Amino acid sequence: MKDIGHQLHDLIRRLYPICRSITGAGLRETLHIIREQIPIELREVPSGTQALDWIVPREWNIRDAWIKNSAGDRLVDFRKLNLHVVNYSVPIKARMQLAELKEHLFTLPEHPEWVPYRTSYYKESWGFCLSEQELQRLRANEDYEVCIDSSLKDGYLTYGELLLPGDSTEEVLVSCHVCHPSLADDNLSGIAVAVELARILGQTARRYSYRFLFVPGTIGAITWLARNEQVIPRIRHGLVLTCLGDQSPITYKRSRRGNAEIDRAFAHVLRHSGQRSDVIDFFPYGYDERQYCSPGFNLPVGCVMRARHGGFPEYHTSADNLDFVRPEALAESLSTILAVIDVLEQNRTYLNRKPKGEPQLGRYDLIKSAGNEKERRMDELALLWVLNLSDGEHSLLEIADHANLPFATVKDAALSLLAVNLLTPR
Ligand code: ZN
Repeated sequence: MKDIGHQLHDLIRRLYPICRSITGAGLRETLHIIREQIPIELREVPSGTQALDWIVPREWNIRDAWIKNSAGDRLVDFRKLNLHVVNYSVPIKARMQLAELKEHLFTLPEHPEWVPYRTSYYKESWGFCLSEQELQRLRANEDYEVCIDSSLKDGYLTYGELLLPGDSTEEVLVSCHVCHPSLADDNLSGIAVAVELARILGQTARRYSYRFLFVPGTIGAITWLARNEQVIPRIRHGLVLTCLGDQSPITYKRSRRGNAEIDRAFAHVLRHSGQRSDVIDFFPYGYDERQYCSPGFNLPVGCVMRARHGGFPEYHTSADNLDFVRPEALAESLSTILAVIDVLEQNRTYLNRKPKGEPQLGRYDLIKSAGNEKERRMDELALLWVLNLSDGEHSLLEIADHANLPFATVKDAALSLLAVNLLTPR
């Protein structure tokens, strides 16, 4: 049995070659592979459907694309790397010289071996992405044959959805984008972690219901929001997952609310993790938290990532590949998110049943930890904090933060006090 990090990396490896986009066969194939792992349902929304201020676009599919020289050699070959075609390129078959072709070529001169990733979803155009080195090999007087065998037709936007019902109908939303082609960290790492999270939670007793969304970026989240206004009031917490496999420390981006329970839970877990990490405020760009946190929804949805949107050289280039994502980083991302979910699941608010003076704790059969003196002292402090702040106004997470104690210590203290009837649920 492989460790979890390698399992996650294996799924990324399997999905990596597929040419995904915001619609089309590659997106469907990706969702079918996810459906082999967890029982998502596929939703198909027809082109032309109004979704908030947007319209579901025509479906894009691509079979092949190339730039050939006069000898017929494929100098730029979609079959070797799907990033070579500007995603959503309209079909073209033509002969042209370099001067004319150049208007449709994109490179990264600062990283001459890398191929950029570009899209043109909402403006009809075509183009090729190639490395600066490949561009330098093209000659001015040569006649090039250019072909993009794509289609842009009325069809569907596809997304995947899984609801894991819990004891409560209140929901935790977990969303990731599934529209990027061969890019490993920026989208496949989020997908892999979300799949594993769903599998683990599917086998666990759950207080909350969990809704997993595998959606094309922006238009997918907007389409889901437009179709699910009745679900939105049930969403109590949410996370957008992205870029979870690189070696940067974990960054949590707060929801627009800034002090939602998910914001406090994530900050708490990171603070007590002993690892380098960062918590940053919401801003209205990045990933689909932009949609979930738009003012008309203002959902308590944060974003968890390692490398930040647009903030690393490999971002949206061929260097965001299978070597850029590491099993250990994927495993640590998953375990951190599970720790946050554990806080959400266990966080409650209690009332002290003997609030006048401290109870005489020695008279109660309180569970003593088997730990060392420092741990026993921490447990005793936790009992006192829980008793003092369980006035119905403070959740266990708030008590843990006030006391600067790990959530688990405070939760265990509360369970002990509950067992001897010193606490009651609010
Ligand atoms: Zn991206």
